[in-house]
Amino acid sequence: MASGVCVITEFQDGDFRKVSYEVASEGKRVADALGCDLCAVVLGSGVGDKASVLGKYGVPKVLVADDEQLANYTAEAYVPVISEILREVDPEVVLLPASLNGKDLGARLAAHLETGLAMDCTEFKVEDGVFKAKRPLFAGKCFGWYEWDSSARPQVASCRPNVFEKTVVDEGATAEVSQVSPAIPSDRKVQVVKVEREESGKIELTEAEIIVSGGRGMKGPENFKMLEELAQLLGAAVGASRAAVDAGWRPHADQVGQTGKVVTPNLYIAVGISGAIQHLAGMGSSKYIVAVNKDPDAPIFSKADYGIVEDLFKFIPVFTEEVRKAKS
Ligand SMILES: Cc1cc2nc3c(=O)[nH]c(=O)nc-3n(C[C@H](O)[C@H](O)[C@H](O)COP(=O)(O)OP(=O)(O)OC[C@H]3O[C@@H](n4cnc5c(N)ncnc54)[C@H](O)[C@@H]3O)c2cc1C
Repeated sequence: MASGVCVITEFQDGDFRKVSYEVASEGKRVADALGCDLCAVVLGSGVGDKASVLGKYGVPKVLVADDEQLANYTAEAYVPVISEILREVDPEVVLLPASLNGKDLGARLAAHLETGLAMDCTEFKVEDGVFKAKRPLFAGKCFGWYEWDSSARPQVASCRPNVFEKTVVDEGATAEVSQVSPAIPSDRKVQVVKVEREESGKIELTEAEIIVSGGRGMKGPENFKMLEELAQLLGAAVGASRAAVDAGWRPHADQVGQTGKVVTPNLYIAVGISGAIQHLAGMGSSKYIVAVNKDPDAPIFSKADYGIVEDLFKFIPVFTEEVRKAKS
């Protein structure tokens, strides 16, 4: 009979991505609530001893598939490898990141294992021994609680990045690491031939704690320099609305929203963005939202914790200067 919680982590370029610790921590909380075991799965290349760090987050056991062919995510390699590990472990709950790769992996994994998936969850609970997942519906207009049919095991759920708290349970703890070597299909149609990184030092939007985003109100690409300067002072990433992306002012990778990235930073500063429902779908779960807009009736203000009704070209330079002073 299926039992235990298994978390799937993301390991890239020699380290875990931050969301892995969030998923591991939530896995620990769910395992405690279910009163069952917890383990983690790591796929990658050159994982080495790094996997044992998950012990800090309360994961006692880690299964590592370490192979050059797993250095970059491809569904054709990852899905069969993880499926084989999961068939062996036979957990009742599988948690994974709802990252770009995780969204692809989760759907394929659930289909492969012929079970159900709750995607992009923001909360879990265990009631009378039943595992339940909460996820946004209709582009974040409302939330629904889900539970799995008793025939659907494991219960696969992906965790929205930056929502679940990463909790160090024991700073000195190390997880027991076991190497596993499931067969990696050799007849894969997709191979990663080259990885082109964005400029180094750029903070990935989905992992950023603070985001400064600009919209059509920025009036042109050159004015984003203002936001970049502010972002640099705050240690923030720069995002954009679709209007700014469609105008060619920012790359598509910067787009926040329904057809862009879903972000959940602690602080989201929306500058010259009206707050269309499709934009709110991507940033509405941010912890604190600050909006700068000269139109007091802009819909973004109904979602914002702090609203500044002002011309952004007057406000942003003054604000940046104040941040600079405060920092020094
Ligand atoms: C299927 C679909 C998917 C979509 N997906 C997305 C998505 O992923 N992300 C997304 O963002 N949008 C998306 N959209 C588009 C969305 O509907 C809006 O058109 C878009 O978000 C508007 O961008 P904006 O707020 O920058 O521009 P606008 O709506 O034009 O707003 C500009 C704002 O700037 C303010 N402003 C202007 N000048 C100044 C100034 N000097 N100082 C201060 N404020 C100023 C104005 O008052 C205004 O509120 C999608 C639409 C559809 C139909």
